Amino acid sequence: MMYHATEPCEPSQATDALESDQKSTLTLQEKVFSKLLQEETNMYCFDCGWPDPTHVSINHGIFLCINCATGLHVEHYPIEVSYIKSIADDSFNYL
Ligand SMILES: [Zn+2]
Repeated sequence: MMYHATEPCEPSQATDALESDQKSTLTLQEKVFSKLLQEETNMYCFDCGWPDPTHVSINHGIFLCINCATGLHVEHYPIEVSYIKSIADDSFNYL
């Protein structure tokens, strides 16, 4: 029997793919940041341009490298000006 090239995949294959997604061990926080860090504007520190930022300024909505986050924002700005959290080490609440 010949199958046309545009036929959908077998239902069992689609189910397997969906189940493997659901079995992901990533936490919600990891999934959210993974998605956000895929945005080109989030791939670099907002202040210095260093790749792979590890911190965020909550009230500014920006990603920062550890040097800018701890060396500049935490040291020189009060929390009302820049509220810094680590992507990996701090927990975030979602509303
Ligand atoms: Zn930086």
